[in-house]
Amino acid sequence: SQASEPPYLSGLNPPQREAVLTTDGPVLVLAGAGTGKTAALTARLAHLLYTRRAYPSEILSVTFTNKAAREMRERVGRLVGDAVEGMPWLGTFHAIGAKMLRRHAELVGLQNNFTILDTDDQLRLLKQLVLAADIDEKRFPARSLAGLIDEWKNKGLTPREIDAGESERYANGRGGELYEQYQARLRAVNACDFGDLLLHVLTILKNNREVLELYQQRFRYIMVDEYQDTNAVQYLWLRLLAQERRNICCVGDDDQSIYSWRGAQVENILKFEKDFPGAKVILLEQNYRSTPHILGAAGGVIGNNTGRLGKQLWTELDVGEKVRVVGVWDGPEEARRVGDEIEACQRAGKSLDDMAILVRAQHQTREFEDRFIAIGLPYRIVGGFRFYERQEIRDALAYLRIVNQPADDLAFERIVNTPKRGLGDKAIAKLHQLARAENLPLSFAAARILDTDELTPQARRALGNFVGDIARCRAMARDLPHPELARQILDESGYTAMWQAEKSAEAAGRLENLSELVRAMEEYESLGAFLEHVSLVMDNEGLREDPKVTIMTIHAAKGLEYDTVFLVGWEEGLFPSQRSLDETGTRGLEEERRLAYVAITRARRQATILHAANRRIYGQWTSSIPSRFVAELPDDHVETETTMSGGESLWRANWSERADPFADVGRGTGRGPGWQRAAGTLGGKPGGDWQSRTFSREPSRVVESRTPAVSLGNKG
Ligand code: ATP
Ligand code: MG
Repeated sequence: SQASEPPYLSGLNPPQREAVLTTDGPVLVLAGAGTGKTAALTARLAHLLYTRRAYPSEILSVTFTNKAAREMRERVGRLVGDAVEGMPWLGTFHAIGAKMLRRHAELVGLQNNFTILDTDDQLRLLKQLVLAADIDEKRFPARSLAGLIDEWKNKGLTPREIDAGESERYANGRGGELYEQYQARLRAVNACDFGDLLLHVLTILKNNREVLELYQQRFRYIMVDEYQDTNAVQYLWLRLLAQERRNICCVGDDDQSIYSWRGAQVENILKFEKDFPGAKVILLEQNYRSTPHILGAAGGVIGNNTGRLGKQLWTELDVGEKVRVVGVWDGPEEARRVGDEIEACQRAGKSLDDMAILVRAQHQTREFEDRFIAIGLPYRIVGGFRFYERQEIRDALAYLRIVNQPADDLAFERIVNTPKRGLGDKAIAKLHQLARAENLPLSFAAARILDTDELTPQARRALGNFVGDIARCRAMARDLPHPELARQILDESGYTAMWQAEKSAEAAGRLENLSELVRAMEEYESLGAFLEHVSLVMDNEGLREDPKVTIMTIHAAKGLEYDTVFLVGWEEGLFPSQRSLDETGTRGLEEERRLAYVAITRARRQATILHAANRRIYGQWTSSIPSRFVAELPDDHVETETTMSGGESLWRANWSERADPFADVGRGTGRGPGWQRAAGTLGGKPGGDWQSRTFSREPSRVVESRTPAVSLGNKG
């Protein structure tokens, strides 16, 4: 309205303006999805610079991802010109931590050119320590220790602060001791891991008054986006840094806290007013992102959580389309359906860049990737590797390649010592020598070298076993269906066991990816045909600038928005995840529900939720029931469609009455095409052998589903 108003203020609503203009003193912006929290924070940054309240180097702004940092930098750049050049303290906690640590490395015994280890390096180091400590790594995997150390670091605990109870969590009380050794070892090699980027900085701030004061003075203003997902160590940092000037502005949404598995504490929001007495709390209630139907649907789901702060949301946007719930027969149909709809949107003039598919678990991307490659639909995977590029998939493929093609040296090298078989660098070097000298592929050279006395007895035994395993698998390849062959190779080589030994969430994800790989193989005639497909997939990179549909996990989608969003795999055991259902209590389930809320609220115009009646799991067709979150969608905002004669709506009604939706479907009856197909693929296993999944937490009735779909009985 006022012509003289700076550009970043125009268009902001009154509470947003208040968040921007209340520059001094603590401010907490608490608001639901799409209410312009990030927009307000960006304008606030622009305001501080524009009014010269601070130099760019005097503002600490924390974003949740590097991508978000880049976006904020660009937006502020547009708003106030090039004043953002050199905003050194705009970034993620880790990026900011690395920068601070470089400056004060000597205070924690490092040199400022320290290396930052990736998880592979970290693990290798831990394994050496575990071995040296005479701990049975089979019983106490180094990976578990890695997870534990990470957890301690996220909590801000140094080795000295690990008490006996915590220490007990690894190798009968030796956790603390190994943590200490690990830290010493890192220091000796002038390195740190990701957790150290936060923990070391906290240690420095706590133990060095003058450094703390330096930063307390330096940071005139502190701002934090996605505050609900800060963990303890980040929280402690912020509290120390802001204690002096108290110009801190945090924005967040308790309903979008989805990283508790990585140590995030939503309680940090509740503590804010206590830590910073007199804080101004600003609520934003107007949503600018989504249509009323989308908001209504998201609100209906999240309303089932307890202990929420509770916020209002309204919008001026047109009511728009209802959220569509689509039931499909199985996973492949889901992928086909989404592909078709995306192409239809394209024909209607929408850009692929405005569309996204959100999955709950990484392994779900595979089916979509394969389908999109088949129909030539450009896609990108955000926040993770494309399926066939993931470490465990590349490893598994290397096993398959070496069975398929003994001369594949690259494959051989990749897996000859994965999992660790006790083949040292020396043994491998000798193998290479022989291969070169006799001009043989490595796997042939390996067979040859076993006849010599070149290797130590240990290396010889290890290599002998490996060569034997591969030879056996190659012999089996003639008789065994190739998915079964793959399963055996991965089992016999110890590869599956390597990931099973680890109890972390990451390992569970890798195992899921491996079974997804085996599942994918079933769609191809032979091992050769499958490998051919994969090499084509791997080559499908294309130009980065072209519009592409985005596939990503819900976790990676936080803070983002798309016109059209497909939410796939909304089935019990997938979403909510089986993990959350197996947990006692409702914590896990409530976090899944927040994920559902985040997922739905990414959509601006159109949200489509899909669930399949059948999924193939370990080669077996398993019937699945739609996610409870589907039932929680308020009827007014949803339009249900199913490719299976009304089964879905019947199911919705049943679930809300907490009844067993399969009660009147007899076991083993009502076999439809899915049964026959499954039996065919599996070489005629009877239906009775089907794996059944049991959902025993919520609702309290046990639903044991052995029939592929509730609607089969009604069909035709
Ligand atoms: P999330 O909780 O998902 O992170 P958010 O609260 O950070 O959401 P933003 O991403 O900042 O929300 O804003 C959502 C959308 O609304 C964006 O497209 C943004 O440009 C737009 N927007 C924000 N504020 C306004 C406003 N005052 N007028 C018009 N559009 C706005
Ligand atoms: Mg945001």
